[in-house]
Parts: sequence; C-alpha cells; structure tokens
Amino acid sequence: MLYIVLVLVLAALGLLVTALITASSLWAWVSIGLSVLAGLLLLADWLRRRRRSAAAPEAPADSSPPEPAEPAAPAEPVSEEQTTLIPASGDLGDPADTPEPAPADASAETETTSDSDPGVEDTPEADVAVLADLEDEVVVVDEHPRYHLRTCPWLGPRDTIPIGVGEARQLGFTPCDRCRPDATLVAAHR
Ligand SMILES: [Zn+2]
Repeated sequence: MLYIVLVLVLAALGLLVTALITASSLWAWVSIGLSVLAGLLLLADWLRRRRRSAAAPEAPADSSPPEPAEPAAPAEPVSEEQTTLIPASGDLGDPADTPEPAPADASAETETTSDSDPGVEDTPEADVAVLADLEDEVVVVDEHPRYHLRTCPWLGPRDTIPIGVGEARQLGFTPCDRCRPDATLVAAHR
C-alpha cells in the first residue's frame, strides 16, 4: 500500500516538473489528481491500521475468558513434561546422588578428623600463672587458634610454627585438649 502511494507521489512530482517545463496546466492538474489519490490512499491505509489497532485491544478483551482456559490446557502438558522429566532427572540423579553423599561424608570426616580445631584444654588458674612465664616451645598452625605439643596427632602433615608457650598465650592462642600442652609443660616445669 505504501509502495503504491510512493509511486503515485513520485509520478505526481514528475508530472509537476513536466507541467513546469512544458508550461502546460494539464500536467499540473494530473499531478494534483495523483497527489490527491496518494493522499486518499494514505488516509485509507491509516484508517484501516487504526481500525485494526483499535480491534486488537478488543480481541484480547473478548478472548480474555478463553485465555485462562488456554494456559490451563498447556499447563497439563507442562506438568506431563515435568513428570516425564522427573524420572529422567531421577535416572541422572541416581549416579549423581551416589557420588554426592560420598563427598559429603568425606568432607564431614575431614572436618571432624582434621579440619575442625580440637577443643580447648581446661587449664587450672594456678597453671595459667606458671605458663605465662614459661618459654617452653609449643607449635601453632597458621589460622588455627590452638597451640599444641609437637607430638599432637591433630597436627598431622600441617606446617607448624614453633613459639614459646607464654607468647602463644599472650597472642591469644589456646591450648589443644588432645595433646594437653599446658598440663604437660606445667608438669615438666614442676
Ligand atoms: Zn594438639
């Protein structure tokens, strides 16, 4: 439609030029006629579009009652898809599930056996006073709050940092309750 209008306008322009060159009013009148025709076509096109766009909102309004029914119908296929998907994912999940608990157990084991820090040794007040002045060597592990005897089983292959027990306590380290460095060192001191 717009293509026809464009052709008409171009033709009208050509005729207008012809009219100006030939000084013939006939061509001018034909040009005006074509221009008017093009204008009418544009108007008709615009009216048709407007009617269509006006009808467009009406159509959803009319079809709004059926619309909920439509999604309801697709909802069933969707749920069917899901039910078919669930067994499928379950099949995939079985191999995935079995490895899953294994790492979980492994991590839980590593947490309890090595990763988590041991408890704090319960040191009597009298021993604390003695330990503050002691320079006997204990070991600490970077980013772990306990200090240990070198023989502590918790240390394992960790990189240990030797430090005086008094200094360790000053820095805020606490004694490990597995190797009980405080009791050992105080007993050795006495
Ligand atoms: Zn320890």
